[in-house]
Amino acid sequence: MKPLLIVLACLLSVATHARETIVRSQAEYQEAVKTLRAGDTVVLANGEWRDFEVLFKGEGTAERPITLTAETKDQVFLTGQSNLRLAGEYLVVSGLVFKNGHSPTDVVIAFREAQGEYANNSRVTKVVIDRFNKPERAEFDVWVMMYGKNNRFDHNHLVGKGNQGVTMAVRLDSAQSQENHHRIDHNYFGPRQTLGSNGGETLRIGTSHYSLTNSFTTVENNYFDRCDGEVEIISSKSGRNVFRGNVFFESRGTLTLRHGNDNVVEGNVFLGNHVEHTGGIRVINKRQTVRNNYLFGLTGHRFGGALVIMNGVPNSPINRYHQVEDSVIENNSIIESSHVELAAGADKERSAPPIRTRFTGNLIYNANGRNILAVHDDVSGIQFARNFVHKVAKLPISAGFSSREMKLQKASNGLLYPIGVNMGANRKLAVLDKDATGVAWYPKPGRDERFDTGTTIAALAGADSLAKAVARAQAGDIIELAGGAHVVERTLIIDRPLTIRSADTARRASIEFARNALFEIADGGSLKLIGLDISGKTAPDVAGNSVIRTSRYSMLNNYVLEVDDVAVSHLDVNHSFNFFTAAKGTFADHIRISRSTFSDITGHVLFLSNESEDLGIYSAEYITITDSKFANIEGTVADVYRGGTDESTFGPHFELSGASLQSVGSGKRNKSQASVRLLGVQAIDIHNNTFSDSRPVRVTHTVGEPVSTIVGNHYVGTPAPEVDTL
Ligand code: CA
Repeated sequence: MKPLLIVLACLLSVATHARETIVRSQAEYQEAVKTLRAGDTVVLANGEWRDFEVLFKGEGTAERPITLTAETKDQVFLTGQSNLRLAGEYLVVSGLVFKNGHSPTDVVIAFREAQGEYANNSRVTKVVIDRFNKPERAEFDVWVMMYGKNNRFDHNHLVGKGNQGVTMAVRLDSAQSQENHHRIDHNYFGPRQTLGSNGGETLRIGTSHYSLTNSFTTVENNYFDRCDGEVEIISSKSGRNVFRGNVFFESRGTLTLRHGNDNVVEGNVFLGNHVEHTGGIRVINKRQTVRNNYLFGLTGHRFGGALVIMNGVPNSPINRYHQVEDSVIENNSIIESSHVELAAGADKERSAPPIRTRFTGNLIYNANGRNILAVHDDVSGIQFARNFVHKVAKLPISAGFSSREMKLQKASNGLLYPIGVNMGANRKLAVLDKDATGVAWYPKPGRDERFDTGTTIAALAGADSLAKAVARAQAGDIIELAGGAHVVERTLIIDRPLTIRSADTARRASIEFARNALFEIADGGSLKLIGLDISGKTAPDVAGNSVIRTSRYSMLNNYVLEVDDVAVSHLDVNHSFNFFTAAKGTFADHIRISRSTFSDITGHVLFLSNESEDLGIYSAEYITITDSKFANIEGTVADVYRGGTDESTFGPHFELSGASLQSVGSGKRNKSQASVRLLGVQAIDIHNNTFSDSRPVRVTHTVGEPVSTIVGNHYVGTPAPEVDTL
């Protein structure tokens, strides 16, 4: 073709129709994107695209955007080391699924090619990111980073962020990304497990450094389903954002207006359903508006309460706490929740209470008439009017609150309203339907039922029978051991949830093992032991054995360990023989020991102190020991370490009750010389135990306002507990 004809042909194609190009390989994709013009569409063929770093770059127009999409929406998978960057104008990406891999960089989807090369007026919609985590739990990345201006992120499905780093962030780190007017709407933010350190937020908008800059980001009609992560579900760190119409379902943490001014939080529904540490809205800074929100069954306390208005720091540095000024808290319904905190965090540093702020038309209802309103400083700078509480006998604030008897009734939107009086949230408040978020073609996760969902497998007594049963068991199966002796020659790798129990409670199974560990919980595994006798007497004659340990490799999935009615003995062939050892980079949602006995152990029963770098990382969220007996233990019943000074985690939590300890903690290798040693534990409940001839309980508080209850214990030949603060 002559040059003139080529030019003509190009002009013709622009004028007539946009091109749609289906590509079947990365090479074909690279070719197709070279010549993208406004209105064009690139279609990724169905199938797996492995190790594909997609750069989608072009200049579309409002009428004729450039589109990247999937041939079929649930059949295009980006796997291995893959990611997506958008750069240019008026781009649309839809229908991709990221799974079975992770990004090789620090972001899965970025609205930029590089610093200074941003996407604007662009949209990512109906994209799935499913457990696309870095293999190392402690390694940082962010799944979605929004840069540029006027972008939209909608109807996406993000579930199972397991490694360090917020799920999604809006960045304001250059003028091209400030005052961005982004929209984040109709996304399904699926379950995010407890991270066990700072950096587990689901959404962060801005950073403290740019927090006095306006973002103008709207976060609307998103569903936050069990977004646990850490204490902040959303951390707003910029100005003029709007949070509207979102549902927070059984999510531990709060929507926090951490930095920045002039934000609006309205028409959101928080359904805590009495799950521990579920919270609502935390207010800091100037000219914030919190109105018409519905907050139900939120159990969180302190900064994690249903509604928290903070004290500020006079002349605060940008990364501390600005005083609450000129803010409005109105027409919110706070029902069957545990804490509303005013002037929260008041201390020597945070000495500036809220000023010129209105608190009006709010409804606080607890059927039992309990007062949940706490005042931590002078609140004369808050003007209270027309607030109602349900028959609270003694309120800390009298003016602006009326206490009266009310009855609640469910309205057609499923929410509770008082009969006969108009107060609290609007009766027409629309409750977002979960099915209106994310995509219809990718299932949303149900309840987490990990144990006892499968079939029962019988294991006869003798050698190798248990090992064979474990090898063939599926997730949720129950292995029933015949009565008598089981000898295990290899370490049993538990990488699925399994229950192992005696078939007959009258004739218990007993287990001996010949390796350094009987069980190793690996990624994806959880273990429940019931009605067994476990002896260490045939374990190898070396130091440092464990009955159970976690993988030495980082585990992305939190595990659970439950031990009920188990007798453990003879962990004494050599020194430092633990019942359970948690390795670094692994995290338990809970460890529960009940009705069990432990005797003659040269190490610790639970050793949870390998995260020793003081980075706020720890090994287990809940550790619960009830109705158990411990005798002749050289180490501790539990050694739990949570170093570091950040206040981003609810845990660890520790309970010991109904236990008897006889000769615990005096071994010369037990560094703490404690029977129970807890450092940096946030909630401690030690009650109704008997300590005989044992070393003391030693508690060290490091950060936050830990709640320690140590009551009703008997100490015989045992010093009283020692509690100190670092
Ligand atoms: Ca945080």
